[in-house]
Amino acid sequence: MIAHVETCVAVHDEIGQPQPLVVLRFGPAGAPRYWLILEVRADAQLADVDKLLRQLWLECCGHMSAFRVGRRELPKTIATGIAFAHPGSKVDYEYDFGSTTALVGELLGKRQGSIGRAPVRLLARNEPLVWPCGECGAPATLVCPFCIDSDDGVFCDAHAEAHEHADEEVYLPVVNSPRMGVCGYTG
Ligand SMILES: [Zn+2]
Ligand SMILES: [Zn+2]
Ligand SMILES: [Zn+2]
Repeated sequence: MIAHVETCVAVHDEIGQPQPLVVLRFGPAGAPRYWLILEVRADAQLADVDKLLRQLWLECCGHMSAFRVGRRELPKTIATGIAFAHPGSKVDYEYDFGSTTALVGELLGKRQGSIGRAPVRLLARNEPLVWPCGECGAPATLVCPFCIDSDDGVFCDAHAEAHEHADEEVYLPVVNSPRMGVCGYTG
C-alpha cells in the first residue's frame, strides 16, 4: 500500500502552487492492522494533524491529547515538517490521558505537491477489520467494554443479547478504529 500511495498520489493533486508536503503513517503501537497514511502540508501545525486523527479515529468526548518525542511534549503550534524533520522521524501521540489510545506517527517521505485548501488529507487507511463473535464466530457488531480485553469481548447481535452484561446497556459498536470499545467511542 505504501508503495502504491507513493506512486499514485501526485495524480490526485489539486491545481495550485506546489508546496512542501510530508507523508505520515499513524498507527497504534503494537497493533499493526490499524493504520492511516496522511499527507500534510509541511507548514501545517500539529494541531491540524490532531484534528484529523480525532475525526477519523478517536473523538469521543473532547479528551486532551499530546504529541511527544521521548518525554518531551511538542507544542501543537509547531509545524508538522519540523516535528517530522528527518527520514524515519517518529512522534508519539496520545489521546485521552485516562483511557489512553496511544499512536505512533512516522515520516514516510516528503514531496512537493498541492493538496488543495485543507492542510491535511487522508491518503489511505486499513480496511475495516472483521472481528469474530466470541460465541459463534460470525462477524461481530458489538463490543462489551467490560470484556474487551478478554478473548471474547465482541459479539454478534444475538450473542450480545445473551451476554452477561446485556443489562448494563454499555455496548459499543464495532468500528474501524483502535479506540473501538473505549470510553464512549462510537465511530
Ligand atoms: Zn471519552
Ligand atoms: Zn454470535
Ligand atoms: Zn461483558
